[in-house]
Amino acid sequence: MAKGKINVAVENIFPLIKRFLYSDHEIFLRELISNATDATLKLNHLASIGEFKGSVDDVKLEVKIDKEGKKLHIIDQGIGMTKEEVKKYINDIAFSGAEEFLDKFKDEKNDSGIIGHFGLGFYSSFMVSKEVEIITKSFKEGEDAAHWACDGSPEYSLKKSDKKDRGTEIILHIDDDSLEFLEESKISELLLKYNKFMPVPIKFGTKEIADPSHEPKTTKDKEGKETTEDQKMITVDNIINNPNPAWTKLPADLKDEDYKSFYHELYPMQFEEPLFHIHLNVDYPFNLTGILYFPKMTANIDVQKDKIQLYQNQVYVTDNVEGIVPDFLQMLRGVIDSPDIPLNVSRSYLQADGAVKKIASYITKKVGDKLNSLYKNDRKSFEEKWNDIKIVIEYGMLSEPKFFEKAQKFALYPTVNDAYFTFEELVEKVKPSQTDKDGNVVILYATNKDTQHSFIEEAKTKDYEVILLDSPIISHLIQKIESENSELSDKKSPIKFARVDADSMDKLIQKDENQISKLSDEDQEKLKGFVEEVVPSEKYTVQLEALDSKSNPFIITQPEFMRRMKEMQQTGGGGMMGMGNFPEMYNLVVNTNSDLMQKILKAKAKRSEYINQALDLARLSQNLLQGKEMTDFIKRSYDLMKG
Ligand code: ADP
Repeated sequence: MAKGKINVAVENIFPLIKRFLYSDHEIFLRELISNATDATLKLNHLASIGEFKGSVDDVKLEVKIDKEGKKLHIIDQGIGMTKEEVKKYINDIAFSGAEEFLDKFKDEKNDSGIIGHFGLGFYSSFMVSKEVEIITKSFKEGEDAAHWACDGSPEYSLKKSDKKDRGTEIILHIDDDSLEFLEESKISELLLKYNKFMPVPIKFGTKEIADPSHEPKTTKDKEGKETTEDQKMITVDNIINNPNPAWTKLPADLKDEDYKSFYHELYPMQFEEPLFHIHLNVDYPFNLTGILYFPKMTANIDVQKDKIQLYQNQVYVTDNVEGIVPDFLQMLRGVIDSPDIPLNVSRSYLQADGAVKKIASYITKKVGDKLNSLYKNDRKSFEEKWNDIKIVIEYGMLSEPKFFEKAQKFALYPTVNDAYFTFEELVEKVKPSQTDKDGNVVILYATNKDTQHSFIEEAKTKDYEVILLDSPIISHLIQKIESENSELSDKKSPIKFARVDADSMDKLIQKDENQISKLSDEDQEKLKGFVEEVVPSEKYTVQLEALDSKSNPFIITQPEFMRRMKEMQQTGGGGMMGMGNFPEMYNLVVNTNSDLMQKILKAKAKRSEYINQALDLARLSQNLLQGKEMTDFIKRSYDLMKG
């Protein structure tokens, strides 16, 4: 028996391995299964070019727990290693690889910036083992099998083994502080997490199934009573993975159902169907495959759950795809598989990496193209999906200039009556009636059909179109659309967005015609004085206007600019920091042409009651009346009825 000493530059690497990434000890299993898979795929390759003559049908990996012996076995039927190869690959190359890896990261133990932690390789097995054995037989004919063992010190033993069949068996003598890795439930959890889609079948235990070659017979006795034989059960290997996941296939070979069933395979706890999918497939200038799904974006979607998963050659790496997938697409689900994403680097490095940047912009482009084709090919169904996908698209338009450009074509603007316009269509539609005297095209919008109901109705009386924009980031987006538009060369008709309750309708879209007030200047002065006496000035600015006599007497409005800035500040971003808080300010528009004004002017004792009542009605129409104010309002209403 040969004994040797691994070349240790860093004195005793093993304690280091043990301490390394404490919370991530479990990755040892992924590393060993990756090696076993590589060895198997190499054998398949050799068989395909005629270098290996044996059969490669049914080759699989196996993971076995020996609870009593406190051992975990990882067995493959791959190319195996000769004694010389063990020396070379395990003692020298793998060791120096692990050493280099640790040296690089020993100061960053807890840096969650390292994704995947790929690279530690075979020696990661010492994170959970007090001794590791390798029993291996090369596919090369005439070579002896080898048996390597190492107990965590730099000394190892290497001797001949009598292993008969081709392949490698790794035996981990699990350390007392890692006994969880002898639990069937733990190993099966890890296999499902990291190896669910590995390309080689992985056997873990056995299971009983109904014998497919034996149909239970049903016989009738004399009285015609039927008896059915017991179903014969047989024991078969329990294969834990799906070696051919949907993303590795060609889109042409997949039906819609296949994509859906893969979605549920990926997220077994997810019961809702995805809205649609995008199959990714590039091999130049980088290699990437994958499938992205658009889920329904309801208000209570849990973005921390069921995230996009990153794989590398079908090995699970992480579900934190920050930096690889653009922010606005992180709400999507699915998988991305790319060997070209450097994994043993920090996240900041990753984000600066050229290949990774290209990947992010490729994904953005593909998503844009897919949305565009959905819109073009079936506009109706796209409209039906709009509410469930708009948040992603609107967020993308805000954060990615390239996507903004693309999305201009398919982003939709639904009206309060559920008609859907693209931006261009909308502008065309409203231009004739909603251009103000200064040439601005005013787009009226509501954020809530209920609380802004009376304003929406007011707009309808003038045949104005009101769109419904109810996403939380909408103030940022319309700000952007306005400024993009003002940069266009055609500045003749700038676009302005105005919420329906930002002013009286006549002011929102001001036409040339001058409304004539029924009140004399003197009466107007008086009226203003009366109202200002009653209405709290810190909250409302009184503003007299000669509106249609049928319009409401009092209208509470909130100036567009102030409200928008306030909302933008609340939802963050947009350079709003340090601008102080925007106060809650309203205008009280008093319609001088309303008949009620005559009554207010003439009233004596009841004047302040009328004003308060009208103010409260205006508040009520906007859901602004609460608490004591509401109680006072109700009492006053009864009193007024009594006369
Ligand atoms: P890496 O896989 O990154 O090369 P490892 O430390 O995991 O690094 O393994 C080092 C080498 O040992 C591999 O490149 C391979 O040549 C050999 N090896 C490891 N596991 C096996 C195995 N199960 N079968 C055959 N060769 C193996």
